Amino acid sequence: MKILITGGAGFLGSYLCEYFIKLGHFVICVDNFISGDFLNISHLMDNARFSFIEADICNNLDVECDYIFNLACPASPVIYQNNPIFTFKTNVFGSINLLELAKRNNARIFQASTSEIYGNPGVHPQPESYFGNVNSIGVRGCYNEGKRSAETLFYDFFRQFKVDIRVARIFNTYGPRMSSVDGRIISNFICQALKGDDVTVYGDGSHTRSFAFVDDIVDGIVKLMESDFCYPVNLGNPEEFSINEIADIIIKKTNSNSNIVYKELPEDDPLRRKPDISLAKKIIDWEPKISFNNGLDKTIECFRKRF
Ligand code: UDP
Repeated sequence: MKILITGGAGFLGSYLCEYFIKLGHFVICVDNFISGDFLNISHLMDNARFSFIEADICNNLDVECDYIFNLACPASPVIYQNNPIFTFKTNVFGSINLLELAKRNNARIFQASTSEIYGNPGVHPQPESYFGNVNSIGVRGCYNEGKRSAETLFYDFFRQFKVDIRVARIFNTYGPRMSSVDGRIISNFICQALKGDDVTVYGDGSHTRSFAFVDDIVDGIVKLMESDFCYPVNLGNPEEFSINEIADIIIKKTNSNSNIVYKELPEDDPLRRKPDISLAKKIIDWEPKISFNNGLDKTIECFRKRF
């Protein structure tokens, strides 16, 4: 099979490239390096079944493919807010281009949607049926409204042109190969703790997130893509932790003597987040297997080696 993976040099995308190469498929990886890193794919460059195109999905792409995975959009609030109009364009123009490509190729297309589409949720945990609570004019709007618009486009192409779509709403994901400079909590806290720098908790640290290890998410994406289910499915780990708990766990695991310092909570930062994964269990028989405890050990190990 020929598989196009946009955002393939990113954290999650590069694991998908590896996964399909190992299965013997041909992978065409597209990335514009806004948040992707060549080092994530450098080990694949000599593989005859791997090809790389440096391109932006906002521009027309013409490749032959059977499957398309769209992961092309920075997920780090710091990076996606750096150029909000470009973030929104990536989600809208990029999705239209890829959906047109799927239509021309008769290809199945996967959209990496996000828990961000639930905004600051009024329902907890969040099931797929929850419509969300999003500030359309806030600083996160470029990403969460962008991703919501992308979902709208996917379902309009599905209804109007019968494009074969799959949509996963991916909750916070972490693991080895995360960028150390994109400001995400897990990478920030591990780097700060390993260096003995202050660990920066935003707000009072009582707000929560739920973190899934990257291998579990890759497994869920592949299972969803291979299923017949065309509606959005949450993929995430329902283990929920407060930001304070995460700081304590990481400081302890790294044997660090870092102090915790409190900084202002970023605008519109959701106060809690936890996936309801009953649909994923029912439809694709999927649930995460790697605990936060084990996943963190593997991730800390990787960051230690990098240092
Ligand atoms: N966060 C924090 N300190 C940091 C980085 C992030 O307290 O150094 C908080 C952030 O405000 C948010 C949570 O950790 O409440 C998760 O942030 P991240 O950027 O990883 O992902 P998000 O879920 O907000 O997209």
